[in-house]
Amino acid sequence: MKSFIKRLVLAFAFLCVNTLYAQHSKMDLFINQLMAKMTLEEKLGQLNLPSSGDIVTGSAESSDIAKKIVAGKVGGLFNIKSVAKIKEVQKLAVEKSRLKIPLMFGMDVIHGYETLFPIPLGMSATWDMHLIERSARIAANEATADGINWTFSPMVDVSRDPRWGRISEGNGEDAFLGAQIAKAMVKGYQGDDLSKNNTLLSCVKHYALYGASEAGRDYGTTDMSRVRMFNEYMLPYKAAVEAGVGSVMASFNEIDGLPAHGNKWLLTDVLKKQWGFKGLLVSDYTGVNEMIAHGVGDLKTVSALSMNAGLDMDMVGEGFLTTLGESVKDKKVSIARINEACRKVLEAKYKLGLFDDPFRYINENRAKTEIFSETNRKEARSIAAQSFVLLKNANKTLPLKKSGSIALIGPLADNKENMGGTWSVAANLSKATSLLQAFRETIGDKVAIHYAKGSNLHEDAKFEERAGMFGKSLKRDNRTDEQLLNEALEAAAKSDVIVVAGGESAEMTGEASSRAQIDIPSVQKNLIKALLKTGKPVVLVLFTGRPLTLNWENENIPAILNVWFPGSEGPYAIADVLFGDVNPSGKLTATFPQHVGQVPLFYNHKNTGRPLRGPWFQKFQSNYLDVSNEPLYPFGYGLSYTNFSYGNVELSTTKAKGNQTVTASVMLTNSGLYQGKETVQLYIRDLVGSSTRPVLELKGFQKVSLAPGESKKVSFTITPEDLKFYNYDLKFDWESGDFDIFIGTDAQTLKSARLNWNK
Ligand code: BGC
Repeated sequence: MKSFIKRLVLAFAFLCVNTLYAQHSKMDLFINQLMAKMTLEEKLGQLNLPSSGDIVTGSAESSDIAKKIVAGKVGGLFNIKSVAKIKEVQKLAVEKSRLKIPLMFGMDVIHGYETLFPIPLGMSATWDMHLIERSARIAANEATADGINWTFSPMVDVSRDPRWGRISEGNGEDAFLGAQIAKAMVKGYQGDDLSKNNTLLSCVKHYALYGASEAGRDYGTTDMSRVRMFNEYMLPYKAAVEAGVGSVMASFNEIDGLPAHGNKWLLTDVLKKQWGFKGLLVSDYTGVNEMIAHGVGDLKTVSALSMNAGLDMDMVGEGFLTTLGESVKDKKVSIARINEACRKVLEAKYKLGLFDDPFRYINENRAKTEIFSETNRKEARSIAAQSFVLLKNANKTLPLKKSGSIALIGPLADNKENMGGTWSVAANLSKATSLLQAFRETIGDKVAIHYAKGSNLHEDAKFEERAGMFGKSLKRDNRTDEQLLNEALEAAAKSDVIVVAGGESAEMTGEASSRAQIDIPSVQKNLIKALLKTGKPVVLVLFTGRPLTLNWENENIPAILNVWFPGSEGPYAIADVLFGDVNPSGKLTATFPQHVGQVPLFYNHKNTGRPLRGPWFQKFQSNYLDVSNEPLYPFGYGLSYTNFSYGNVELSTTKAKGNQTVTASVMLTNSGLYQGKETVQLYIRDLVGSSTRPVLELKGFQKVSLAPGESKKVSFTITPEDLKFYNYDLKFDWESGDFDIFIGTDAQTLKSARLNWNK
C-alpha cells in the first residue's frame, strides 16, 4: 500500500514538473519566435514604461503617448484609469503597432482600489495575515475589473524612522512580521494563476533599504553594514521573491555609495543569483535618470549602468529608449543583456495571458458591478476596525453609550477626502464618507450629535497647503482660532462626551512628506486643552500615518484610539469601535517614541557594552540626560475593551539538541467583560553569539479570540530555523547556547523561560 502511494505521489510530481516544463517551453518558444522578429528599437520599446500623461477617453489616438505606442516604443503604461481608456490604448498597441504586442497596465494599487483599506502601516497593525491577504485579493479583483493588470505593491521597506513619510506605506519596523505580510500580499494579488482575469502581477518595492534614509528625509542616502542589512532589512523582499512575486522595483536611495538602480551587487548578485528571482525588475519613477543627480554620470552612462546592473524596465525616464541603442553600438551594453530584459517584459505579459487575449482584463460589465461593491465595502469596514489601536482607555471611557449626546469636534471630523490616506489614486473621493456622516448614519437616531470644526489642521496656513497639495482638501476655515474654539466649546457644553477627530492629514505622510517634528499641531493641542477643561470625558480619534510623539496627550486625554488612515469605509469602522460593536484589537508595528530625538527607536536593538542597568538616569551607561530610553508605546502594544492575562511560559524541554522542535506555551485568559482578540507574541533572545545579537527578536505571533472568562493554551513550535541569523561572514546559521524565550502582549510586557540548545 505504502509503495503504491509513493508511486502515485511520484507520478503526480512527474506530471506537475512536466506540465510546468511544457508551459515554460511553450512560453519560451513563443517569445523566441516573437523576439526573432523584433528590431533593437522594438526591444528597447518594450523596456519603456511611461505614465499615461495626456490620454483622454475618445482622443487617445492623438496623444503623444499614442504615437509612441504605435511606433512600438512602449512596453506598458501606468496611471491610466478606466476600462474605456485602457481599451482604446490597448487597441492602438494590438491593431496599429507593427508587432501587435499588447501593453501591460500598471497602477499604484497600494491599499485597495476604489474600496480602500487602511494604509499599509494600519493593515500591519491587524497582525492578521488572512485579512491582509483578503485586502489584496479584493484590491486585485477591483483593479483587474477596471483593466489594470500590474500593481506596484507590496511596499515592504522596513523603517524605524517615523520622520520618514513613507513609513505609512510599509509594515513597520520588524523584518519578520514584514516578511509574513509580504507573502500574504503577493498571494492575495497574484493568486495561483496570473492569467486569470482577476489576478494581477505584484511588484515588491523598493529594493532595497529605502526605509533607512538618513534623518528620515525622503530619497536620502542609506548606508549600513551587510550584517544589519541581511538580518534586519532584507527579509521581506526575500520573502516576496520566495512567494513568487512577478516583479521587483528598485529603490531611489544609494547603498554602499552606489544608487540601487545601478547597483549590480544588489540587483544581480543578491536578487537574481542568490535569491533566484526570475521575474521583471523595474525602475522607480525616473530612478535611472536620477543617478545623474546622484553624481554617477550622464543619461547615457547611467542608463548603461542600470542595464548592466540587471534592471529590465525603465519607468518614465526614457533613458533606456533613447540611449541604449548607442550603448549597444559602443559595446557598453551587450545585446544579450537587452534581449534578457526584453524577454522579462514579454514573459510577464505572457504569464498575464495578454498574448492569448489582450483584452482579458477589459470588461465593462465587471467594471460596473465589481468595483466599490457593497460586499467589498462591508469587508473593508470590518478589516478597518481591526486595524485600530487603542492607545489609552482610562476609566473605561470607551466604548461610548449609544444614548445621550456627543460633541464631534476637530479638523478631520467632517472631512471625507483625508480618510483614505496616502496612495489612494484610484479612489473616487466623491463617494467618500466623513466621520460626521458615518456617526449620523449609524447612531444618529439614538445619540444627539453636535458638530464643530474646532480648529484648522495646522496653525500655519502655508503648512496646511503643503499637507493637502494633491486635492485632499482640508477646507481651511478662515475664522480665527478663537472663533473656531468658541463654537467647539458651545458644542461641548451641550454634550455628555467629546470626541475629537484630529492628528495628521493624509498627505502629511506618504512620499516626500517627511517631518522633523512628529507631534500633533499646536492649534489642535490648544483645542484639546480647552475641551479637557470642560471636565467632560474626551476621546481622541487619532488620524496618523506614522508614530507620533504623544506624551502630553497620553498624560491628559482619557482615551486615545489610533485609527491611522482607515480607508473608504473607515468612518463607519470608527463608529463600530467607539460604540462597542467591535472590540479593538490592533497592535503597533512601529514604536511610538517619547521624543523625536530618540529616533531611531526600535524594540530589537542591540544591548551595547553599557546597557542601562537600573532606573534612568545612570552616568556612564547608555542613556540620555533629558529623556529616558523607554518608548511611549512599544512595538506590539495595543489595548482592548477587555483584559488578557498571561500565565507563565512553559517549555516542552529546557535542554534541546540538534534539529528537534521545542514547544513554548502560555495560558491566556480573557479576564475582562468583552469578547476580544489578542495577538500573542513570541520573541527570542540569543544570549551569546559569535557576533552581537538583538535583545529581542519577534519569531512568532498568534491572534486568538476569547470570550469573557475563557482561557486557552497558546503554543508555538520553535525549530533551529528560528534561531538562525547572518553571522559576521554572512553565513545564515544558528549557534549552540542559551536562549531566552519570551511570550507576551507587547515587546515590553513579556514572560520568559530559558532554553539551552546545542547542535
Ligand atoms: C514611488 C513608487 C511608485 C511610483 C509610481 C514613485 O514616486 O516611489 O512607489 O510606485 O512612483 O507611481
